[in-house]
Amino acid sequence: MSAFNIVDIIKHKRDGEELSSAQIRWFINAYTAGEIADEQASALLMAIFWRGMTSRELNEWTDAMIESGERLDLSSISVPTADKHSTGGVGDKVSLVLAPLVAACGIADPMLSGRGLGHTGGTLDKLEAIEGFRANLSAEEMVSVLGEVGCVICAAGPSLAPADRKLYALRDVTGTVESIPLIASSIMSKKIAEGTEALVLDVKVGNGAFMKTLSSARELAERMVEIGTAEGVKTSALLTDMETPLGRTAGNALEVAESIEALDGGGPDDLREITLALADEMLDLAGVQADPQAALGNGTAKEKFEAMVAAQGGDLSQPLPKASARRSVTASATGYVRRLDAHGVGIGAWRLGAGRSRKEDPVSEVAGIVCLKKEGDPVEEGEAVLELHAQDESRFAAAEEALKGAFEIAAEPPEPRPLIIEKIHA
Ligand code: URA
Repeated sequence: MSAFNIVDIIKHKRDGEELSSAQIRWFINAYTAGEIADEQASALLMAIFWRGMTSRELNEWTDAMIESGERLDLSSISVPTADKHSTGGVGDKVSLVLAPLVAACGIADPMLSGRGLGHTGGTLDKLEAIEGFRANLSAEEMVSVLGEVGCVICAAGPSLAPADRKLYALRDVTGTVESIPLIASSIMSKKIAEGTEALVLDVKVGNGAFMKTLSSARELAERMVEIGTAEGVKTSALLTDMETPLGRTAGNALEVAESIEALDGGGPDDLREITLALADEMLDLAGVQADPQAALGNGTAKEKFEAMVAAQGGDLSQPLPKASARRSVTASATGYVRRLDAHGVGIGAWRLGAGRSRKEDPVSEVAGIVCLKKEGDPVEEGEAVLELHAQDESRFAAAEEALKGAFEIAAEPPEPRPLIIEKIHA
C-alpha cells in the first residue's frame, strides 16, 4: 500500500488546495521511480500550471527534485565557488568568457551546461566546435578540472536531479513547459545539485527570450532567488535585454571566435558589459575582491580558458571550422538599423543548421549569422546587414524566409535601451 493516492493529490491541486510536504516528496520520489503513470503526472503538472505553487510548495518541490539524485561534492575545492545560469538567448556566449574570467579572479566555477534546443544555442554545442573538446566528463574528472584550473564547463550526468529529466520530458509533450514555478524548480534543482555556494541568474527578457515580458521575467527571477536562498545558496539575478542578439554572432564556431576576442580584451561592447556585470555579481556573492576588467585586459582570463579547454581535450592550435557557403542579406534603404530581432536571427541561425529541433539532432559547427550591423548602426542601401554561414547553399532559402522582417531600417536611430534592466537580490 502506498502512502498517498495520486488521484487525491491531483484533485487537491486541481481544486486550489496547497499540497503538503509529504505529498510533494511522495509524488517526486514515486514518479522518478516509475511508480506513477505519465497521464497522472501530466494531470498534476497541468493543475500546477493553472494553480501555481506557494513558496513553501515550490521550495519543497525543488528540494525533493534535488534529493532525487546526487549532489556534487565540491568540498575538495579550496576557493569559494560561484556559478551563473542564463535562461537562454540568441548569441548568448557569456559562459565561455565568464567562467574563465571569474576563475582568473580567484573563484571556482563548476558550470554544468546544456545543449541548445530551438532557436537559442547551447554552451556545450559551442565548445564542441573546438577540435577534441569533451563535454561529457565523469563527476571525478569534473572536480579534478575544477580544482586544477578553477573552471569547468560540462554536461550534467544522469545522476543529477533525475526527477527533472523525467518531468521536463513530460512537460515538453503536455503543454506544461511555460509555468513559472515549474521552470524555476527545474533550473534551480540542477544548479543547486551542482554544489555551488553562490549563483547568479541571468534572466533574459524580450522577443528572443523564454520570458517575453519584464513582469514574467521578474517573477521567474524572484522565485528562483527565493529557492536558492531557501537552499542556502547565495543567489541573485540580473534581468537583461534579449530584444536583439548579444554580440555580433549567433552560431557555434562563430560564437567561440567572438568569445576568444572578448577574452583577448576586445569583442563587442554588449558582450563585455554583461560579462563584467555578471562577474561583479558573482565576486560580490562569493565575497572575493578582484578586478575582472583587468583580468580581461591582461591575458589571465584567456589563460584560464586555454587551460580549461586543454584539460577537457580541446586543441586550440587547430583553426575553428569555417563555413564554405556564405550569403549576405542587404539593406533595402539608407538610414539606421532601428530594430534587429533576436528571435528572427535565432530562427535564421537554427534553419542554417546551428540549432536542433529534437534532442537527438546533430548541429552544424559552422552554421550561423554574423550581424555586420547592429541596432543603431548607420547603413547604406545595398550594404550587407547580416552574413549567413552554412555547410551548404541549400540552407539559405529557409533562413532568408525566417529573416524577413527581422530587421528594420529607418531614417532615425532607435532610442538606446539598457542592457542590464534590473537586479534582484534576496
Ligand atoms: N530550462 C530548464 O532547465 N527547465 C525549464 O523548465 C525551462 C528551461
